[in-house]
Amino acid sequence: MTAPRTRRALLTGWGRTAPTAADVVHAVHPSLVDAAMSAAVAAVAARTGRGLVARGMGRSYGDAAQNAGGTVVDATWLDDIRTVDLATGRISVGAGVSLQTLMERFVPLGWFVPVTPGTRLVSVGGAIAADIHGKNHHVDGSFCSHVLSMTLVTPTGTHVVGPDADPALFWATAGGMGLTGIVTEATLQMIPVETSYMLVDTERATDLDDVMDKMLTGDDAYRYSVAWIDCQSTGSRLGRSVLTRGDHARLADLPHRLATDPDRARAFVPRQLARVPLTPPGGLLNPLTVGAFNEFWFRKAPKRQLGKPHHMTGFFHPLDGVGEWNRLYGGRGFLQYQFVVPDAAGETVRRIIERLTEVRLASFLAVLKRFGPGDPGPLSFPMPGWTLALDLPVGHDGLDRLLDDLDEEVLAAGGRIYLAKDSRLAPDTFRAMYPGVDRFLEVRSRVDPDGALRSDLGRRIGLCSDAGAPTPRPTTKKRKTR
Ligand SMILES: Cc1cc2nc3c(=O)[nH]c(=O)nc-3n(C[C@H](O)[C@H](O)[C@H](O)COP(=O)(O)OP(=O)(O)OC[C@H]3O[C@@H](n4cnc5c(N)ncnc54)[C@H](O)[C@@H]3O)c2cc1C
Repeated sequence: MTAPRTRRALLTGWGRTAPTAADVVHAVHPSLVDAAMSAAVAAVAARTGRGLVARGMGRSYGDAAQNAGGTVVDATWLDDIRTVDLATGRISVGAGVSLQTLMERFVPLGWFVPVTPGTRLVSVGGAIAADIHGKNHHVDGSFCSHVLSMTLVTPTGTHVVGPDADPALFWATAGGMGLTGIVTEATLQMIPVETSYMLVDTERATDLDDVMDKMLTGDDAYRYSVAWIDCQSTGSRLGRSVLTRGDHARLADLPHRLATDPDRARAFVPRQLARVPLTPPGGLLNPLTVGAFNEFWFRKAPKRQLGKPHHMTGFFHPLDGVGEWNRLYGGRGFLQYQFVVPDAAGETVRRIIERLTEVRLASFLAVLKRFGPGDPGPLSFPMPGWTLALDLPVGHDGLDRLLDDLDEEVLAAGGRIYLAKDSRLAPDTFRAMYPGVDRFLEVRSRVDPDGALRSDLGRRIGLCSDAGAPTPRPTTKKRKTR
């Protein structure tokens, strides 16, 4: 087999920090994935290569889909829809198909993706590798709970895995950030919907206690729930929020003009309203502009509004309306800090919001959600409790130290950081947060004994290395926390 043609490119994640160059393979056919895998394995064995990793739509925030000096397989070309069973909602698709394509094709036919993140511009492969969660995690769990099977190309061969077929490899791949192989195809169970609309309840919460109380007592009555938090407010208004919860609307729930026009009621035609054309060097988001935006956003939300129909696009993916909005943070880029802590550690959420508001960081995107139990995967991120995600501009004096401190708080509370958003976690902290690491490394060493699957994220947190494949530690010593 000859090595596939590659193109050298500088890659970053969505946060646009830490660019690195790699040889990018456009995998227009699964056979090219095989060829790239064989070439990378041979080069690693000859000590002339730096391995390979897959890349989807580049929506992970940090360095997960990068491989400095090695190969990156662009899997978005595996974009064919293979089989569809409209009676059961089971579909088999190439791993490069985007969730947006699935919505465009299947919502009008009565089927919606089981889990969607805050952007629909992610690939099925990326959704599996991060085992993504949505606003419905407390009801439906993460993405891989709805994956029936997948085809995985690894250094030791191609495997078809599922919850009942080599479950150890299946669950290590769910959330394994591409380090167990390259997914080329997956079969998903979609969920039935009658329309492309949601029935939404919106209410303002005056402070953090108020919103957490509303979520604790009320979330179970909704399939989807999320709170946007104003991270510029302090004192008695700390954590004031807009809570948005809803369910899929049935035809009969919609106003007459839609209820009598089923085609219109099921239409899914997403539009980009604007695009940020260039990167303003210093960025446009600073405490002043974000403060003004937050005030406007809070006041714009109704105090309490029940059962209002909203189209899915606005409810799930408001940010997708503006193309390349990540440029707004300027040339230095930004990062996202997302953590989860158990139910009992609600106070940690408060302390972290306090610490961040004290330094007046310009976070216009801060969302709070409740999680249900995580998936069985060794690197599963969710646990029953609270997850908070904040976008933060880089370049602020002392940000690194502050976030290291926050990591310690999260760890002490029994929580962890989400790898799909991470760009800075230290290896020891990662190990202490994810007790399943050794289980993950065991599975990985079975399918990739020489450690050919590598990424910048993997090297940074110690899941792979250029010196050979890391192996499980014989005993896991618990790290001391403050
Ligand atoms: C605005 C925004 C909102 C978001 N909201 C959420 C949210 O609510 N919930 C959530 O969970 N996430 C969220 N995310 C993160 C996003 O869902 C994940 O990072 C997802 O993995 C991105 O998919 P991608 O196709 O862009 O993959 P990439 O970012 O290109 O890659 C991500 C990882 O997947 C691996 N990968 C990609 N394709 C394959 C493949 N074919 N086989 C094996 N591995 C592969 C890569 O190696 C990498 O490790 C959000 C991101 C953005 C930008």
